[in-house]
Amino acid sequence: MVRSTSGRLPCEIKAGFSFRSPPLAYDRRDVAAQQDVVARHFAHVGWETPRLLRAMRTAPDFLFDSMGQVRLDSWSRGSVALLGDAGYCATPLTGLGTSLALVGAYVLAGELAATEGDHGAAFRRYDTVMRPYVSQAQQLPPGGAAGYAPSGRLGIRLRDLSMRSMTRWPMRNLLAAQFAKAGCIALPEYRLATDIRDRPQPRAGERVDRVERTPDGLGTPHRMSVGTED
Ligand SMILES: Cc1cc2nc3c(=O)[nH]c(=O)nc-3n(C[C@H](O)[C@H](O)[C@H](O)COP(=O)(O)OP(=O)(O)OC[C@H]3O[C@@H](n4cnc5c(N)ncnc54)[C@H](O)[C@@H]3O)c2cc1C
Repeated sequence: MVRSTSGRLPCEIKAGFSFRSPPLAYDRRDVAAQQDVVARHFAHVGWETPRLLRAMRTAPDFLFDSMGQVRLDSWSRGSVALLGDAGYCATPLTGLGTSLALVGAYVLAGELAATEGDHGAAFRRYDTVMRPYVSQAQQLPPGGAAGYAPSGRLGIRLRDLSMRSMTRWPMRNLLAAQFAKAGCIALPEYRLATDIRDRPQPRAGERVDRVERTPDGLGTPHRMSVGTED
């Protein structure tokens, strides 16, 4: 698939070349060799492709990568936790990677605050809250990679047709269902940071507030006790 879209600047155009292939062995530091791979794959494609391929050779922001999901049984080890693409990349095919990264950051930060330094407990809670959300978001939309980058003439025609009808039924509904997954999580409400800002600072020897969750584990945490050191 070859596509061009507006860039961030008025004079900028971004071009994307996507193709399906078995895993490729290439030198990650050899940009010219990576550009050769792209040029070879799109050598006989019409439209503006030859011009785009020529521009590719001098593009200062050329990027060559494979689309791959990250699926891990655990997102943490010791005091290190993975977040966003590093932990659960869903690929651009899902259109949900940014939601995952932002929600993951919110949940991880909230759990770390709520568990008051017990990072092991925070990481377990982070996993429990995020795991179903991530699993759902990583399900590819109908057609998957083959639908995005078809190889045969008929497949390409069908893909072009579906792209053109994104705003109409049934594509519109399929797309809406895919993006609706971004909201498929009951976000816990972490009040600790606000509580800390609002309340008077503890005096020397005074114990800080604890946070306890509602029984479903996803509800609003609340302050449980304030006391003095034993
Ligand atoms: C072509 C394309 C299209 C996409 N389209 C969509 C879309 O439509 N919707 C959507 O939701 N998502 C989309 N995504 C996915 C989305 O961009 C990612 O899922 C999201 O950016 C992940 O956020 P992140 O913070 O985990 O990682 P990143 O955004 O990749 O941020 C990681 C940062 O860490 C920096 N970094 C890396 N290594 C180091 C190091 N050693 N030291 C210091 N810094 C380092 C990087 O430079 C980068 O700034 C798309 C992705 C691509 C590639």
